[in-house]
Amino acid sequence: MILYPIPERRPTTIEQISSKCGSVGICTACGRIAYFRRYLDNHRELGNCLFCGASNRKRQICYLLRKELKSGDIGKIITSASILNAESSGGLHNSLKHNTNYISSEYFGDAYRSGEMVNGTLHVNLLDTHFDDNKFDFVLTSDVLEHIPDPYKAFREIYRILRPGGVHIFTVPFYQTHYFDEKRAEIIDSQIIHHMEPIYHLDPNNPNGILVYNIFSIEMLLNLSRIGYRTIMHKLYAFRYGIFGNNAIIFESRKI
Ligand SMILES: [Zn+2]
Repeated sequence: MILYPIPERRPTTIEQISSKCGSVGICTACGRIAYFRRYLDNHRELGNCLFCGASNRKRQICYLLRKELKSGDIGKIITSASILNAESSGGLHNSLKHNTNYISSEYFGDAYRSGEMVNGTLHVNLLDTHFDDNKFDFVLTSDVLEHIPDPYKAFREIYRILRPGGVHIFTVPFYQTHYFDEKRAEIIDSQIIHHMEPIYHLDPNNPNGILVYNIFSIEMLLNLSRIGYRTIMHKLYAFRYGIFGNNAIIFESRKI
């Protein structure tokens, strides 16, 4: 029997201590035995690796990628797989960037076209990329889709550039207790219309932060299956990798 919403685990004593003091484990991003800083009340975004800075959430993406690639726990990830990472800094990027078929990008705003270089970094708009069909084995997005006004257009574009069998590994803010996505804002006639109090997330490329348009829910899984993905929703628990807490929800969508 599968229970949904997934029941919350009671934290063990060692997890409670780790939340306050940090923990030691293997960082799936940089592949080093590391100290993970305090998690406090934000297990998803904190617990950063002392070496590479990867948070619990970033380590979840690396955990699934390493599992898919069957690469070991320790050291940088070595692979011939073609990978697009919609992030050009941090532990995962540094662990992957030496690979020949690895491409990293950022989004710098509508003034640029996908494929342009901005201060040495590739600009890619996930609504309209410049990549050929069936190019990538993996696309990685880490809390990106909630900032895109029409996220399902981006999911379709990612589907187009994945090869058959390719996987989109991603995190997004997700409500287990809702059915419909929460549309907090949308763009109508080129104007941002807010339906709820605006939420902005920190963004290294934007000092004002970046607006959250949608928070996803079960509706997302249905919409992804309509696009053609087979999606697995994981709730991870892997204390030895510093992955714990009740919000370690991550998605693996395979193009079929
Ligand atoms: Zn690390």
